[in-house]
Amino acid sequence: MITPIIDEKAIERLRAMINGVQRIAITCHKSPDGDALGSTLALCHVLRRLGKEAVVVTPDMAPKSLEFVPGVRDLIVFTKHEQRARLALSEAQLIFCLDFNSMKRIDRLNEIVEPLKTKRVLIDHHLDPEDSFEVMISHPEASSTCELVFRVLMQMGLLRFVDRMAASCLYVGMLTDTGGFAYSCDNPEFYEIIASLVRRRFDRIMLYNKAMNTFSADSLRLQGYAINEKMQLFPAQGAALITLSKEELERYHYNRGDTETLVNKPLAIPEIYWSVFLREDADKIKVSCRSQGDFSVSDICARYFNGGGHENAAGGDFTGSLDDAVNVFHQILKDLFPDIEQSKQ
Ligand code: 5GP
Ligand code: MN
Repeated sequence: MITPIIDEKAIERLRAMINGVQRIAITCHKSPDGDALGSTLALCHVLRRLGKEAVVVTPDMAPKSLEFVPGVRDLIVFTKHEQRARLALSEAQLIFCLDFNSMKRIDRLNEIVEPLKTKRVLIDHHLDPEDSFEVMISHPEASSTCELVFRVLMQMGLLRFVDRMAASCLYVGMLTDTGGFAYSCDNPEFYEIIASLVRRRFDRIMLYNKAMNTFSADSLRLQGYAINEKMQLFPAQGAALITLSKEELERYHYNRGDTETLVNKPLAIPEIYWSVFLREDADKIKVSCRSQGDFSVSDICARYFNGGGHENAAGGDFTGSLDDAVNVFHQILKDLFPDIEQSKQ
């Protein structure tokens, strides 16, 4: 039995809103991951099957590693097709905001969306959502936005429109946002939803391999280099730090997505329960944090790195040099563990 956890009033309003419109745009956060792409593409697919003119508009491109997700080729990508993105959002009668909690997470798309009067619907599982949506379906306890899209469709009585393609998309998001069913999936109902998706008979093993275990040779070598030569451990504070400079990334012909799971790797070490990865991008330092147990990295990202996310997986942006960001990391160690002398392994 899958409990109807979503407020029935929100479901009713959503039903009325969808019934009353024809053109719908769906968007997600910049640097879309498996959950952002899976949830938007699944919802788009179902809405199209309902006869709606639905499109997915993303702030930037999907990484190469997620090009296998069904429907990725149909995305309207702002950084590639700015005019089409502008038109799709301006003409939409309803805008879905999936897998983010604050409008700044859609980057420059917000310049288009913010001035519009169009009604917005949030479906998301990040902590502390902003109050800028007509309908807010926010459940931080959920594994993923894909799980929430399934639950919304279930409560709306639309599961018959979840076909093999939509099921594949939802499966990818639930798989990747839980690190391969490792964390944020304690609720037994999570597996009931997976069971319901698997009944749609998509190629589960192919999707698992593509989503969890496919890397280019360059990406694998970059990760090997990062772990071998760049991982610093602070066992007394349970911490690990990996940094990669622009020059190091270029040496391994870095493509977006190549370091997606790197930040998780130090957590394999028994003494390490939180891990920070700092990557030097063109105009900022991208911060990724992961933790185990009740150590909240979303608090750390919010306080030090202008970001947020979930208790055990969070991120942010840092303006400044890589060295400055490393200094912030050392400051965090000092602030959180004032009595421990800083020494690394
Ligand atoms: P990742 O480390 O994979 O980029 O992100 C981990 C989690 O933190 C994701 O759920 C993502 O949405 C969230 N996150 C990543 N970067 C940011 C950011 O700059 N701001 C906020 N608020 N959340 C972020
Ligand atoms: Mn997510």
